[in-house]
Amino acid sequence: MHVAEITQPVTDLPGVGPTRSEDLARIGITTIGDLLLHVPREYEDRVTPVPLAGAEPNRPVNTVAQVVAHSYIGSGPKRTLRVHVRDETGTGVLVCFGRNFLARSLPEGRTVRIYGVFTHRYGELQATAFEFEDAAASSVRFGAILPVYPLAGRLSQNDLRKATAAAVNRYGRNVTQELPDVLVERRGLLPTAQALEAVHLPSSLDQPRRGLKTLVYLELFFLQLAIGIRSAERHRSSRPARSLPRGLADRLAGSLPFALTTDQQIVVGEIVTDLEAEVPMARLLQGDVGSGKTIVALLSALMVIEAGQQVALMAPTELLARQHGDATARLFAAAGLDVSVALLSGTVPGSTRKPLIQAIASGAVDLVIGTHAVFTPDVAFRNLQYVIIDEQHRFGVLQRAALLRKARQPDVLLMTATPIPRTLALTVFGDMKVSSIRETPPGRKPVETHLARHGNEAKVYEFVRRELVAGRQAYFVYPRIDDTGALALRDAESMWQTLRDKVYPQFAVGLVHSRVTDEEKRRTMEQFRRGELDVIVATSVVEVGVDVPNATCMVVEHAERFGLSALHQLRGRVGRGTHQSYCFLVYAQELTDAARERLKVMHGTTDGFEIAEEDLRIRGPGDIAGTQQAGYLRLRIAVLARDMGTMNDARTDAFDILEADPFLAEPAHAPLARSLDAARAMNRHTPFSYSETEESP
Ligand code: ADP
Ligand code: MG
Repeated sequence: MHVAEITQPVTDLPGVGPTRSEDLARIGITTIGDLLLHVPREYEDRVTPVPLAGAEPNRPVNTVAQVVAHSYIGSGPKRTLRVHVRDETGTGVLVCFGRNFLARSLPEGRTVRIYGVFTHRYGELQATAFEFEDAAASSVRFGAILPVYPLAGRLSQNDLRKATAAAVNRYGRNVTQELPDVLVERRGLLPTAQALEAVHLPSSLDQPRRGLKTLVYLELFFLQLAIGIRSAERHRSSRPARSLPRGLADRLAGSLPFALTTDQQIVVGEIVTDLEAEVPMARLLQGDVGSGKTIVALLSALMVIEAGQQVALMAPTELLARQHGDATARLFAAAGLDVSVALLSGTVPGSTRKPLIQAIASGAVDLVIGTHAVFTPDVAFRNLQYVIIDEQHRFGVLQRAALLRKARQPDVLLMTATPIPRTLALTVFGDMKVSSIRETPPGRKPVETHLARHGNEAKVYEFVRRELVAGRQAYFVYPRIDDTGALALRDAESMWQTLRDKVYPQFAVGLVHSRVTDEEKRRTMEQFRRGELDVIVATSVVEVGVDVPNATCMVVEHAERFGLSALHQLRGRVGRGTHQSYCFLVYAQELTDAARERLKVMHGTTDGFEIAEEDLRIRGPGDIAGTQQAGYLRLRIAVLARDMGTMNDARTDAFDILEADPFLAEPAHAPLARSLDAARAMNRHTPFSYSETEESP
């Protein structure tokens, strides 16, 4: 039985009412199963005695001491209470900032249990953060190993400790083990019920380690099982091998104003081999911004089209879909190809949409380009065979699945300019083959990156002016659309006015962001592309795919607020032509450690593969929001940077089982199959899901 099968709501637990359950929901916890899989980030050891003399900055004191005196710093209502305590080894002071009322519960002469971090300051041992209990009373929060959980909203550690303890005692203890005994033994795991107890209610500090290892293993094992089954399904639906016609593709290749790079040629070859094979393709194409993935996709698409089948290309934004539509139409026209391309846009009125949809259904359209929003249920294909998903990381699994369902067993090409770190490639994409374009088209110079502090941006503006005078174009990107007043941040709307009226009055400055209508966005980008606008002010909507070779400057203000992959994408908007390009990352004064590291990485390298690895490293463990933001997957417990060994074990074990029983059909594997279903259901609404096509009939 999998923990995911505990689907009772958290409100079934004592002490969890509407307020707490709302806060829990914010960190993805709605069921008791979710709660049991919310693991502590660390533990407080309130068992091992550490006397005052043993105090060190990273070693909290856990002792029994007597209150010997009170004193105050300052005077009047703002004065601060100091409680002097002594144990057998020494003396210390509890500094009660804002908590003078503690004088009553810490009277002179009383013996108390104390837990807190003491540091040497002003010749004495002081603690400002501490907990205590009357030593005469029976202990509630001492004499135990206390878990420390990631929190949200108004939740306190005590709320989570109580709720989780109840969940373990009432539900967790009944969880039976679904893993075959041999695996539990071979990998040194605990039965699941024991693992939950070890993690949430440990009685010694070394217990959680094995419990946690078990939960990590389980998570990764079921992930790998799902991947293995998905792959088995693809293999089962094999078709006769075939040889695809090359006529159209050769004509397009011959009409291009450039020669394909070696990497592009190799990748086209890899894709065609898959398209011709018996097993439908599942391939991930990664290549840095500007490496020329689109043409690779189009060349392969033409072979399928020439064989009489339909192809769909899905882009993450309307802007990008249009750009693909326009570029494709231009390229096909230049090559004199008689291929019917339809741009299924969100702004197409119903009267135009209807005939388009009919043409797609009848097979009159060969290639359909659009965003996920336009591949609605009413869009049916006559014989869709090949699905290409551009900037795949911008889509949720369900969005991808919606398009994939329109074909029976489509060939799938996922494209991404955010390379998947090696460690991640084994996870969600564990059953996909990977193609990489590592070289950029010849003649491109690497973008020069400069960091500038907020306050020094005048120099940046001046530099950009010289580029504008020389006939180049520039992007200015801001984290917000307009001034919300909440944060002192520059925003696109007000900076658009400033840049237009004060900084560059002699140049044409445009504005795009997600609240501008699609029509206007398209018009503005088109003007920029034609050079009628010199400067575009934007939010990160220009992050993906926009291609204007004459733009040489990318200025990102409040760069500290952008993630590494977003910064990398933004920088990729420039350096797409033959001119030297520049990226200016303007940051605010106070940087968090992670933000400083991100900027350092951006300054140090332009290699997208390296940036992806660094991104994973900087995010580090426990960054819930960050992991979700990464969009690939949301593992609850496992941290890939830490748990690679376990991942490999889990993969080996899962694939061993599937080799003998590819669909878990044997009675002995019924508990595994049930658990897998539960795990899939549990993750259905998270950005990460175990199955690409889980909702297909
Ligand atoms: P991305 O991989 O970021 O999607 P694109 O496919 O948009 O990159 O290509 C970026 C630009 O490079 C386009 O203008 C495209 O026409 C051009 N391009 C692609 N391949 C080559 C090549 N081999 N030589 C020169 N230019 C190329
Ligand atoms: Mg692209």
